[in-house]
Amino acid sequence: MENETYRCHICGKKGVKLWRPYGDSEPFICATCAEKRQIKMTYCKRVWSKNPDGTFDGINTFKWFPLPPWSINDEGLVPSFDGPGPDGENKPSTEKLIIFIEREISSKHHGKTELLPAIPHKNGGVWTYAATPEEDLKWWRNLPTR
Ligand SMILES: [Zn+2]
Repeated sequence: MENETYRCHICGKKGVKLWRPYGDSEPFICATCAEKRQIKMTYCKRVWSKNPDGTFDGINTFKWFPLPPWSINDEGLVPSFDGPGPDGENKPSTEKLIIFIEREISSKHHGKTELLPAIPHKNGGVWTYAATPEEDLKWWRNLPTR
């Protein structure tokens, strides 16, 4: 699957994980270019209560706090934009990135944009993230992040 077209639209890097805007197949964006364009985000602090079955419910306090800047780990994950979980930690858990794309980069996707993994489909385009077969997901996770 690694070919000439699997490259970052912004810096041209090849052979690394790429992301693309939610609901579209272009432009492809690499981790380094995405990290540089991250938006300062806030999260609503939750108070957690444990259910009898061991799960937790989070009650919103409507007190907002800044999220620290993220960087993408080796598996292509960043900490949740919802903030810390019941244990008070916010471990890398989502492939979704939220960034700001300049108008010069994409006339269709600019401003605040949600990115998902760009996993090429053999018939062209990309897999819908939820429908990606396990082996294709594995291929993407095994690509170097940078
Ligand atoms: Zn790039």
